[in-house]
Amino acid sequence: MEGLITKSTGSWYQVKTPGGQRFDCRIKGIFRTKGITTTNPIAVGDNVDFEMEPEQGTGVITKLHPRKNYIIRKSINLSKQAQIIAANLDQAFLIVTLASPRTSLGFIDRFLVTAEAYDIPASLVFNKLDLFSDEGLEILADYKSIYENIGYPCYEVSALQGTNIDELAGQITGKVTLFSGHSGVGKSSLINVLLPDLKLRTTEISEWHDKGMHTTTFAEMFELPQGGYIIDTPGIRELGVIDIEKNELSHFFPEMRARLNQCRFNSCRHINEPGCAVIKAVENGEIELSRYESYLSIYHGNDTRA
Ligand code: GDP
Ligand code: ZN
Repeated sequence: MEGLITKSTGSWYQVKTPGGQRFDCRIKGIFRTKGITTTNPIAVGDNVDFEMEPEQGTGVITKLHPRKNYIIRKSINLSKQAQIIAANLDQAFLIVTLASPRTSLGFIDRFLVTAEAYDIPASLVFNKLDLFSDEGLEILADYKSIYENIGYPCYEVSALQGTNIDELAGQITGKVTLFSGHSGVGKSSLINVLLPDLKLRTTEISEWHDKGMHTTTFAEMFELPQGGYIIDTPGIRELGVIDIEKNELSHFFPEMRARLNQCRFNSCRHINEPGCAVIKAVENGEIELSRYESYLSIYHGNDTRA
């Protein structure tokens, strides 16, 4: 049988068949991901083949289908090892708040670079619109223009008051969308308003707890009533990219990418080279200073994780 992984604990996997049946499965054999060592071979969003074991009522995963993309988290202790968080994403939404908690521009830019590196279209969702003061709304307008100008769709919503939730629902219909963001920005609240059948969700999770399954930081995949899935990554603040070469970093800033062949030197790092088209664009305001500062910060490895 064939199915989609909709939940994973690292040892148990929930597999949903095209007909909508769900089975708990384990892995048999070795599954490898090319290029990296992973602590988990299969993740939510993966398509697999599996066989049922009639006596147990559970299944065994026998084959992993090729992925269109996947996102990982680097292991903190073992830098060579990575955890696959999710596979086959259509888009990634970063949920952003300007207060309680504040999401920094640096954090937004690192997320967008990561999404570019994975080739996953990214959007920004500004939540808690109901809390914005007049001053806050001005900052929001500034932020939106920074990111919309370089091609990232921005949405402003309030999960609490239901503002613009229909627009957001329209954008995720029929797609597999990753929800990411700092703890406290309202990811769960948004998922709850987008998924009216909340009760189903909570009982499903507690059932898994009852089975004694280990449930630390695995991604969950929620099916939308109108078609499509939301992937939530509880406890994961930031996505990891295995290897971005310094000389490739500017490729992951769309506004820099557009100017790369305009620099005098092919090998331009866009730091202090004469005839650098990027620096010129920063100076005349065509490239946002905050974006360029994020570039320098990532380039020099000043990863503040704010
Ligand atoms: P998560 O950690 O990203 O899943 O965030 P939660 O969904 O748990 O929300 C964190 C807190 O923010 C909770 O107290 C929510 O009630 C609150 N919250 C979420 N969305 C909104 C919103 O649109 N407006 C306001 N005022 N509070 C919100
Ligand atoms: Zn340059």
